Amino acid sequence: QHFYKGNLDAVMISFFRCAGLVLCHLEPCGAAEVDQAVRAAKSAFGHWSRMSGMERARIMIEAAHMIESRREEIARLEVVNNGKSITEARLDVDSARLCIEYYAGLSSTMAGQHVQLPGGSFAYTRREPLGVCAGIGAWNYPFQIAAWKSAPALACGNSMVFKPSPVTPVTAVMLAEIFTQAGAPDGLLNVVQGGQETGRLLCHHPDVAKVSFTGSVPTGQKIMEMASKGVKPVTLELGGKSPLLIFQDSDLENAVKGALMANFLSQGQVCSNGTRVFVHKDILPEFLREVVARTKAIEIGDPLLESTRMGALVSRPHLSKVLAFVEQAKREGATVLCGGEPYVPSDPKLRGGYYMTPCVLGDCRDEMTCVKEEIFGPVMSVLSFETEEEVLRRANDTTMGLAAGVFTRDVRRAHRVVEQLKAGSCFINNYNVTPVEVPFGGFKMSGIGRENGQVTIEYYSQLKTVFVEMGDVDSLF
Ligand code: NAD
Repeated sequence: QHFYKGNLDAVMISFFRCAGLVLCHLEPCGAAEVDQAVRAAKSAFGHWSRMSGMERARIMIEAAHMIESRREEIARLEVVNNGKSITEARLDVDSARLCIEYYAGLSSTMAGQHVQLPGGSFAYTRREPLGVCAGIGAWNYPFQIAAWKSAPALACGNSMVFKPSPVTPVTAVMLAEIFTQAGAPDGLLNVVQGGQETGRLLCHHPDVAKVSFTGSVPTGQKIMEMASKGVKPVTLELGGKSPLLIFQDSDLENAVKGALMANFLSQGQVCSNGTRVFVHKDILPEFLREVVARTKAIEIGDPLLESTRMGALVSRPHLSKVLAFVEQAKREGATVLCGGEPYVPSDPKLRGGYYMTPCVLGDCRDEMTCVKEEIFGPVMSVLSFETEEEVLRRANDTTMGLAAGVFTRDVRRAHRVVEQLKAGSCFINNYNVTPVEVPFGGFKMSGIGRENGQVTIEYYSQLKTVFVEMGDVDSLF
């Protein structure tokens, strides 16, 4: 069941950001619809949680096959939903499918422990699902986030009510429909539409056992506060301001490619982006020459064209916010080496879209706003450093800790540096690769818990300990 309509007067408007046109109108779900969705999910949980892991896996694999066969259709809709290029949207659909396949494989491995105790008695543990989980998503990877949350939740035997961002409401609904068509019980993955208020209703619902959230730090803090009222566990995937360290001995060609991958995917709207690019002073001029040349060559425009590498930002206000960061950087003394301006495509149909040219900022210093705050747009800040000790101190001088990267040919330096970086995902000689087999998540204020990898099973399940007495009760009374 999918809940598109509510009784509230307010109407959400979703934009076709590539052209600045209205895409659709939706009514946000109110208390009655959220309750209906949770009740449906609770009923599905009763059936789903009693199925064996193998039975659940079969349905999940069927859903993965359907995603594979509808890859192009989903990717095109994601482009319209979000504004990113079709090339990236296809990779997001692939990541969603792989995640479902991966957790389908793990669903039959949920197991406990047998512990022998004195006198022949023993105990065993059962790993059990939590119940109805709430998923609340951000707008930058709409389909992928819905899959990264629902796949481990469902594999463990939970059901989920998912709320996509009101900015990108469309593709999560496709995922829910696909699960239903694959044979999942009605209500197993429900989608409710809406913004803060709908999210708040979900977090406070007494039948919601856990909240898994992806979004900004301030909203994450509110989610944790709301979950605390019901003593509910949370997974928080929050923002970042990650460092990328490029040493003088790195393969420069690779380091430049890494810096582009660390900054310009999804129009720079990626939580793990390495936006503080620290480059050793000896290679700084050469690095800047290369990175600026390649940034200028990035093709911007119609995201449905195969040649396009950068589409539209997610909204008009967000575009204005990103451009304002560039202006502020200039006022604080940074040099715009390229980009940072609104971009108007030649196609008249796209004139109203939210495009900008990707930007490289030189002469950045640690105290500048562009270096301290998450911009969430295509803006790379380049900083110079001299020693390993110095760059590590500066790289870690942030309240965030989502990701970090290091480029060097020295294998000992690479591991020494990574050991000292305070970040949940560290990349050596690469950046922003997110295979679903490995955990993803942040240190410090970038989050709690992990998504992907085996460990996530623990975040969507709980342990029951069963004690079995083989003798008589040894009563003290
Ligand atoms: P956001 O925090 O504004 O919104 C995220 C979601 O929370 C939306 O669905 C929104 O409707 C909902 N929400 C907002 N207020 C709420 C409330 N009071 N109660 C319940 N729900 C509420 O974030 P955004 O602008 O959609 O996304 C951008 C942010 O997300 C960036 O900071 C980015 O770094 C972060 N992000 C993190 C990851 C990660 O995996 N760590 C991934 C993607 C995005």
